[in-house]
Amino acid sequence: MNKRIAVLGATGSVGTQALDVARARGYKIDFVSGGRNAALAERIAREFRPTAVAMADLRAANELKYRLRDTSIRVSAGLKGICEEVEASECDTVVNAILGGAGLLPTIAAIDSGKRLALSNKESLVMAGEIVMKRAREKGTEIIPVDSEHSAIYQSLKSGKPLEIRRLILTASGGPFYGKSRAELERVTLDDTLAHPTWKMGRKITVDSATLMNKGFEIIEAAHLFSVSPDKIDVVIHRESILHSAVEYIDNAIIGQFSLPDMRACVQYAVDYPDRFETNLPSLDLTALGRMTFGKPDTEAFPLLNMAKRAFFEGGACPAVLNAADEVAVEAFLNGRISFMDISRVVFNTYDMMRGARYARTLEDIIASDKEARELAKKYVK
Ligand code: MG
Repeated sequence: MNKRIAVLGATGSVGTQALDVARARGYKIDFVSGGRNAALAERIAREFRPTAVAMADLRAANELKYRLRDTSIRVSAGLKGICEEVEASECDTVVNAILGGAGLLPTIAAIDSGKRLALSNKESLVMAGEIVMKRAREKGTEIIPVDSEHSAIYQSLKSGKPLEIRRLILTASGGPFYGKSRAELERVTLDDTLAHPTWKMGRKITVDSATLMNKGFEIIEAAHLFSVSPDKIDVVIHRESILHSAVEYIDNAIIGQFSLPDMRACVQYAVDYPDRFETNLPSLDLTALGRMTFGKPDTEAFPLLNMAKRAFFEGGACPAVLNAADEVAVEAFLNGRISFMDISRVVFNTYDMMRGARYARTLEDIIASDKEARELAKKYVK
């Protein structure tokens, strides 16, 4: 039987790649959501014939409704519309590839509906990891990570028991600025930043890879997904992006997952788990690769990496504040309003002003802190 899936964030980078996998594997698409791009959403809807499409942007939803007026495809609008369609969908698996904090409530909706969650939206776990994981346990919902590092760890964890884990080894490409000093980083441009050496990704995550904020978020993501303290998660710079991450066990065995970097493999693993199927993606030729290198991250030039650990330990809404400030700062950088090094300045200033965030407990508290941090970060951008 063909799998039925929903793809949230289907017009984005990972979403588009999830649709590639659906084409190759013959999954039935039951529901897709998009952001603002109604023209692309129309093409997706006409190709895959889902039951429903939702657009986060209200104007885009109206435009799509008009574009699809000759079909019976239902068009919903806004975050609320996305969440309602997730709950109503008769799919087996929800692939959440929404970008940023906007992915949190759809994650909760997927968990509450008891469908498998193939999670690419790391912000769900960064912002509210404790709540998300607790809710998934209560509802008996499986969360299978799509983020390449976490997919690698998930696969490597099949080799041992939780108590046998010594540490997780999270690999990082190091981004385009590996080896640069703080002084050199003051002069880098937007074009320099968007030239990622190994992964093809959206602009936001490409910038986060350059600041290592992405790796910081991935520490928080891994800590929640696998119940491992950030103290036991080591970041290792691995320029080739071939070892996607690994687990070290107490008997010194390191078990890792190797392949050419391609998000489509991660999506397929999460949807088809526990089965594996052949793919039409190129396979890794180790002798052609020849060698792999490993190094330590420079936490002084890239301070956002350790900032993520600090936010995790301070708890409450601190990681959500970090994420919100980073989203605002990166957007300002992409629009040419601030420099590369200003990103961490905006993040630090915002974080310092939000000391009360650590006392947040509920989802509502976290969402309120997220809003407040965004407003504050916008002031620092000015
Ligand atoms: Mg990743």
